[in-house]
Amino acid sequence: MSIAQNIGDIDTRMGAKTRLIAVTKTKPIDILLEAYHANFKRFGENKVQEMAEKHQALPKDIEWHLIGHLQSNKIKYIAEFVSMIHSVDSLKLLREIDKYAAKHHRVIDCLLQIAISDEQTKFGMSQQEAQELMDDPALLELNHVCIKGLMGMASNTTDEAQIRAEFRSLKSFFDHISTTRKVSHVLQMQEISMGMSGDYPIAIEEGSTLVRVGSAIFGSR
Ligand SMILES: *Cc1c(COP(=O)(O)O)cnc(C)c1O
Repeated sequence: MSIAQNIGDIDTRMGAKTRLIAVTKTKPIDILLEAYHANFKRFGENKVQEMAEKHQALPKDIEWHLIGHLQSNKIKYIAEFVSMIHSVDSLKLLREIDKYAAKHHRVIDCLLQIAISDEQTKFGMSQQEAQELMDDPALLELNHVCIKGLMGMASNTTDEAQIRAEFRSLKSFFDHISTTRKVSHVLQMQEISMGMSGDYPIAIEEGSTLVRVGSAIFGSR
């Protein structure tokens, strides 16, 4: 099957509330162009440098999602164009993003990455840390970032019940925040980024609004 067919196939499974992000990390420009020419323009990358190079080389109407860990000294390379940063895990990082977004007169949409898996190696904040961040009065001083929701990665397991429970915990935390915290210029809970090649059908059933799919579209890396 071609890349265009794979994207088309997966895209039709999204339902009304969910959008597909094609994870293009490690894939060369001509592969991204193939997706682009099939009229697909929402890409996810996990490395700042790689995303910046691809942004430079490709048409400018692409939506770029940073899904990997972000170091504050690298924000400057993507602040001008990134559509959404899925991997925010501290107020300190949010402040840095705000600073560089201001230089470009932009508001950068961000998601808080929440640890939902049983793997210590995966990044993300605890629910408690995320609540503290959202309740910190200093948050309201930021005018160039907006927390649009949450991101999480399920455990790398074949146990579907476990994956479903992890996604469900993210969704219920999202619901809790949505009903208990005031909407403001810097906090607007709308998105739940969860689901990858191996588990996106479960994520969609559990309320995902953004799925991040790489290998099921482009083949293994
Ligand atoms: C690589 C990656 C994905 C996509 O993984 P696949 O299994 O190839 O679909 C999704 N999210 C994050 C954060 C990733 O790093």
